[in-house]
Amino acid sequence: MVLGVLLAAFFGQGAVRWTGWMGTIFIRLLKMVIVPLIFTSIVSGVASVGGGKSLGRLGLKTFLYYIATSMVAVVTGLLLVNFLKPGVGADLGGAVHSELPSLSTPGSLGEIFLRMIPENPVAAMAHGDMLAIIFFAILCGVALIQLKEAQRTLLRSFVDAAFELMMAITSGIIRLAPLGVLGLITTAVAASGMGAFATLGKYMLTITAGLLIHLLVTLPLLLRFVGGMNPIVHYRNMAEALLTAFSTSSSSATLPVTLRCVEEKAGVSNRVSSFVLPMGATINMDGTALYECVGVIFISQVMGFHLGLQAQWVVVVTALLASIGAAGIPSAGLVMIFIITEAIHLQGPQVGVIVGAMLAIDRPLDMLRTMVNVTSDSCGAAIIARSEGETGVNERVRA
Ligand code: ASP
Repeated sequence: MVLGVLLAAFFGQGAVRWTGWMGTIFIRLLKMVIVPLIFTSIVSGVASVGGGKSLGRLGLKTFLYYIATSMVAVVTGLLLVNFLKPGVGADLGGAVHSELPSLSTPGSLGEIFLRMIPENPVAAMAHGDMLAIIFFAILCGVALIQLKEAQRTLLRSFVDAAFELMMAITSGIIRLAPLGVLGLITTAVAASGMGAFATLGKYMLTITAGLLIHLLVTLPLLLRFVGGMNPIVHYRNMAEALLTAFSTSSSSATLPVTLRCVEEKAGVSNRVSSFVLPMGATINMDGTALYECVGVIFISQVMGFHLGLQAQWVVVVTALLASIGAAGIPSAGLVMIFIITEAIHLQGPQVGVIVGAMLAIDRPLDMLRTMVNVTSDSCGAAIIARSEGETGVNERVRA
């Protein structure tokens, strides 16, 4: 990572020619395993939890954790943005604007939830439509448990073996992480123009402060007092996953690494991690939730709108839902901002211009919020594993 920053600082785009391809290969390899990994891990996870009561209990704990941590993150952002007021008096005339990415903005939150049900699961897999894949995988897992003994055993060992196969491939890919990270960091640093950073400095500072509070205060406190674990041990065990999240800006691409760290280093059972993590990578995005909230209130401050309590409440709830709907890919969170601006009737061409300026400096913020997203998933897996009576979770730092 340090080498990447230095290379980009000294040689700029020239350095990208030397190392950029390593990052591209690393990301392609990670993406290659995501869909089969998510599918097999959720089916085998749900099947190993068993039916009825224990599935319900684990599901409830998981969703409570997702919602509670995302909510705390949003409120942290809300307090900071109201206190620091980064948008008041900000002159975005000098900011560098970027073209908005061609990611499609979903029409509404209702549409996001409807699209969770795939009309064609194979198409959903081909397009990497995560929420739809998760939905289908949960159904398969639940149905598998109801099958007759012979079929159930056969299918379970098949799915478990397929999952192990994907994890084995992942372990090989992770060996390339240092080279991949070098390439990705060089590209990211070389691509960011410094001009935009000055104009939007206060906005970046507000989001960075919020994300750091969540990463270094809120989540460690949860680990310590709800999970009864040592946060430093946990963070050290997660180092590879955090570094991958930071350099890829994608929770989904990081998922293989997160799964491996949580199971092999933190010592969480496959039963819990394969239930909590694949869904968490798409649904539980604390960093993104915080970012959505700060971003929208920043836009309203720049435009000179004062948002009353009721409007701020709408922002909180939609930010939470938008973070659930956001895909685990770079800049997905930024595109979701339009859903919230619509919800509070913040319209007009100026919104697009401000979001364009936000996009110009989004990469470093995206790196940090993705790291927070992944950290929260991993803390959730550890805390839930402890609450399920698993001993040996996070006992020591494992190399
Ligand atoms: N890049 C983030 C992630 O993958 C999503 C976002 O843009 O906020 O977790």
